[in-house]
Amino acid sequence: MQSVDLVGLVENQRKFFAEGKTLDVKYRIQHLKKLYKAISSNLSLIHEGLKKDLGKSESESYMCETGLVLSELSYILKHIKKFAKPKRVKTPLAQYVSKSYRQPMPYGTVLVMNPWNYPFLLSIDPLIEAVAAGNTVVLKLSAYSPNTNQAIKTVLGSVFPEEYVAVLFGGSQINTALMQIKFDYIFFTGSKRVGQIVYENAAKNLTPVSLELGGKSPCIVDETANIKLAAKRIVWGKFLNLGQTCVAPDYILCSKKIHSKLVAEIKKQIVLQFGENPIENPDYGKIINEKHYLRLLNLLNPEKTAHGGRCDQAALKIEPTILDNAAFTDAVMQEEIFGPILPVIEYSNDSEVIDYVSGHDAPLALYIFSSNKKTIKKFTTTLGFGGGCINDVVIHLATSYMPFGGYKESGLGSYHGKTGFDTFTHYKSIVDKKTFIDLPMRYQPFKKFYMKLVRFFLH
Ligand code: NAD
Repeated sequence: MQSVDLVGLVENQRKFFAEGKTLDVKYRIQHLKKLYKAISSNLSLIHEGLKKDLGKSESESYMCETGLVLSELSYILKHIKKFAKPKRVKTPLAQYVSKSYRQPMPYGTVLVMNPWNYPFLLSIDPLIEAVAAGNTVVLKLSAYSPNTNQAIKTVLGSVFPEEYVAVLFGGSQINTALMQIKFDYIFFTGSKRVGQIVYENAAKNLTPVSLELGGKSPCIVDETANIKLAAKRIVWGKFLNLGQTCVAPDYILCSKKIHSKLVAEIKKQIVLQFGENPIENPDYGKIINEKHYLRLLNLLNPEKTAHGGRCDQAALKIEPTILDNAAFTDAVMQEEIFGPILPVIEYSNDSEVIDYVSGHDAPLALYIFSSNKKTIKKFTTTLGFGGGCINDVVIHLATSYMPFGGYKESGLGSYHGKTGFDTFTHYKSIVDKKTFIDLPMRYQPFKKFYMKLVRFFLH
């Protein structure tokens, strides 16, 4: 663990913020441009870290981590000047003569805490938005991804002084210590359990928070879906990063009319995409550590295994595995799977789906494979979830044009693009009242005639 004077570090960041340098948008742009260059020139270092921590191939690392970060960074650089400008708004007639505007103001010193599954993307994306909004940042990385952490420290260390952006890693000791410190905003990505701890601690200081959590994301496939394409896309999104993706389809709810056809197509796709022996496939990746590997072994069920099921403890790999005819009472349906195990459950009518999904914690993502517009509308409007896709999976998070975040139990707040800038910004509402005129109606002594005028102005 790093030995750090956390209180001193945060004090230094506060002093630096108070100097006002980060209030200058040019200063932020200068650092974000430097960051773009530093990431681009350290891609192999970052990809090596991801390979060591999660076995990610270079293509997957670029597609799902560094490439997405660079794209978000370009978007923010393109729009930051507009985002950071005060926003003129209408003024009610009753406040004649004045102009009203919303003045963006960074929170100050923010804490960003991230998980290990997309250790680069999930730390650098919020960091970009926090810096773009003018904050200083303490970035706390997950102890489970040490190699990517080192790469992040090298990259950020070459761009920012510690009083602007500081990188911390370590386990429970540093986590507990951080919870005792007052920050101006906390942006947390991780599990519900830890999210609750963060929320409780933040409440002591009335610190605003974003909680980007997880949960079980259903994938619904009805009888009108293009089954081959559905299987192809589901297999891609489910087994990407070995299922260690917060928005991976957690389980399938499929119409009983296409159940066996769907399972057969999923099996075919697993072989087409990962080969006959995925454990030997160098691009397949690995489970993050033994603790999670053993947790996942407990969710396997040989009696229901329709495909896969083989494991390699030394390599921390589990094949893409289908648990067919799973039951809602099975162990695999009691927690977020976060691994390469895909339960398939059939349904007879849409109400069964609605009853089950709405009777449980609101999912972070929900996917619908269907060509029936009415069914799609019914599920997208009646069910509550963070975000999702129609006839695809996962890709709704890969955009700077839409916010990404959870709903109810799957999270609080959202980010990406303009929404990310807003997350780390307080908008001061300001009325600029002119002095060349001063209407008398609001002042005592009140007069009946003035009341008539007030009514006229207010309505
Ligand atoms: P986690 O909650 O265990 O850890 C997240 C962060 O919190 C880490 O930095 C960890 O060191 C820190 N932490 C752990 N215990 C703490 C404590 N007691 N006090 C303060 N901080 C503490 O989550 P994880 O295992 O790293 O990640 C997996 C979870 O994250 C899954 O539930 C997944 O769905 C979720 N997730 C959500 C998103 C999203 O964008 N919504 C993205 C990725 C992962």
